Amino acid sequence: MYSIKEIYKTIQGEGAQSGRAAVFVRFSGCNLWTGREKHRSTAICQFCDTDFVGTDGVNGGKYSAESLVKKINEIWSSKENGYIVFTGGEPMLQLDKELITECKNNNFETAIETNGTLDIDFEIDWVCVSPKAGSELVLKHGDELKVVYPQNEFNLDVFKDMQFTHFYLQPMDSENKDKNTTDAINYCLKDPVWKLSIQQHKLLGID
Ligand code: SF4
Repeated sequence: MYSIKEIYKTIQGEGAQSGRAAVFVRFSGCNLWTGREKHRSTAICQFCDTDFVGTDGVNGGKYSAESLVKKINEIWSSKENGYIVFTGGEPMLQLDKELITECKNNNFETAIETNGTLDIDFEIDWVCVSPKAGSELVLKHGDELKVVYPQNEFNLDVFKDMQFTHFYLQPMDSENKDKNTTDAINYCLKDPVWKLSIQQHKLLGID
């Protein structure tokens, strides 16, 4: 069974697939933070803005592959082929070939947003890796690399040798957001390998 925090239909707000309707499936749990505020200061990843604890969100619960894709189908509710974004938490703690196959059998295109600490040995249509300083990056190829910026420990040049189609800097959403945005813009202007990713859904006030 898969532990799911929430499932909802929205517009992808980040990166190269921005603007696209999708069903977001948020898995519970992450390997870089417990999700509890009392553990944030000692976590590997300390800037998380997502609640991925438990299964109590909208449409959350424990699902089999079959029952999960049935629920996604209900939420997608279109005769057009659907698009699923698996996120978390860290989706690769639970996502597996069985679930992807069930998605394919129901004509869904699949995407993942992962921290890249775990390898993927099955086919996903769109792989977005968002590395986190202080963790070991295992997954060094995919469709887009999205670095939340700044993470001072990172030498961004190292990523440019990796096998990604798109390289994004996304300003960290913190009390320094305005400065982070200015700095990210300036970095993209200086090194145009990098493109700016704005969290459009937050600007629009949608989930
Ligand atoms: S890796 Fe992602 S889900 Fe996990 S704590 Fe960091 S930002 Fe949150």
